[in-house]
Amino acid sequence: MSTQDLHHLSIAALAAQIRNRHTSATEVAQHFLQRAKAQQALGAFLALDEDITLAQAQAQDAALAAGQAGPLAGVPIGHKDVFVTRDFPTTASSRMLAGYRSPFDATVVTRLAEAGCVTLGKLSCDEFAMGNGNESAAIAPVGMDAPAPVRNPWDTQRVPGGSSGGSAAAVAARMVAAATGTDTGGSIRQPASFCGITGIKPTYGRASRYGMIAYASSLDQAGPMAHSAEDCALLLSVMCGPDTERDATSLDVPAENFTRQLGDSIEGLRIGVPAQFFADGLADDVRTAIDAALKEYEKLGATLVPVQLPRTQLSVPAYYIISPAEASSNLSRFDGVRYGHRTANPLDLQDLYKKSRAEAFGDEVQRRIMIGAYVLSEGYYDAYYLQAQKIRRLIANDFQAAFKDCDVIAGPVAPSVAWQLGDKADPLASYLADVFTLPASLAGLPAMSLPVGWGAHQMPVGLQLIGNYLQEGRLLNVAHRFQQVTDFHQAEPKSI
Ligand code: GLN
Repeated sequence: MSTQDLHHLSIAALAAQIRNRHTSATEVAQHFLQRAKAQQALGAFLALDEDITLAQAQAQDAALAAGQAGPLAGVPIGHKDVFVTRDFPTTASSRMLAGYRSPFDATVVTRLAEAGCVTLGKLSCDEFAMGNGNESAAIAPVGMDAPAPVRNPWDTQRVPGGSSGGSAAAVAARMVAAATGTDTGGSIRQPASFCGITGIKPTYGRASRYGMIAYASSLDQAGPMAHSAEDCALLLSVMCGPDTERDATSLDVPAENFTRQLGDSIEGLRIGVPAQFFADGLADDVRTAIDAALKEYEKLGATLVPVQLPRTQLSVPAYYIISPAEASSNLSRFDGVRYGHRTANPLDLQDLYKKSRAEAFGDEVQRRIMIGAYVLSEGYYDAYYLQAQKIRRLIANDFQAAFKDCDVIAGPVAPSVAWQLGDKADPLASYLADVFTLPASLAGLPAMSLPVGWGAHQMPVGLQLIGNYLQEGRLLNVAHRFQQVTDFHQAEPKSI
């Protein structure tokens, strides 16, 4: 096999090539670095540093030679820029953190590095992970001198989705073998869907949030974005596991090998199809692709069961109260005093806070801080925040009722394929496009997206699979079985 083909390999195959010394971690890193540099116009990377990447790769080659390499030795990955890293700057795509260097690595970053992954660099996202088009990044991507949106490799006039848009674009354009993402209300699933790749958000609490810059702490989860369910299973097995000393919401559930169930028969599997996910508002092209995918599952032996998630629509107002409330609290730490941007000539302390925050936070972040502070304020807390929490509980209960009749739930990830850059400048239109990903987030359930077809403009369509708590292994197998009989996950954009 020629070096030129390394980026077509699955993670298992790539790791095997490296382990068997058919290639080296260094050669692989060089190949992917070259691809990343050649595709800078996509705006996916916020930080690349050849010296650091090659040093990591050489360390992996040395570990291999010494027989001490981890299972993913030499696999090149990128990290969403909300994971703090010691070696690379971390900005959360915000002017607030321009040039920030963390003194430590996020737990997820550490675990992947211990397994042998080599970091190619840091990937763009919506500012502080707020958004679904990756158009709000306020840091200039590598190779550019001004902030720019990430572009979708399938059509560079379209968004890659968000907030993990840099991660999705980098994987789709094969600049990395895989990437980390975070999902608060859909930010792994929706960009995976828009870019034709596979991504999974585990059960809330499975992956440590230590070192993941907080947006809405009761919702934020890390997960892998890669080409296939198998690749995701390999990465997720490394990323998950208790970190209870560092993350108070970490689940004390042992790490699991999520590849173990891959290949199991899905004969007799009951797939719940929620009526509310197919209501008005779902674009016909997406519906057609999802229907075809569900038919394929029937051929694989699964049974489709109609289920109800009656509060699906309410997930939008509930989420857009709870997540800004938590964001307003989390982002209060950026005060211009301890770290981050500080205004030049403050009049007094109040002025320092106000100007530092006004100068460095973008519009969407400021909007959410204001909404959050408002819904938590005296007199409005009961009317908004408390009501939203009640709806959140009811949504979680609805899922448990549905899971009495089915094993997994399937539906679209997003109501449409990726839209044109600039098309969702109206925040409300953008929030509404999250309607199918928010319910599983509010309930804390594991959920994923896998590519299952093509919609309008030949853009990828993702199928969402939602499982019950701690059912990641089953979810990944349900996706894997589909990928064993289809090749949507292997398609590559023409531009690359
Ligand atoms: N689009 C949603 C939001 O803007 C989800 C973002 C996310 O999951 N990080 O909040």
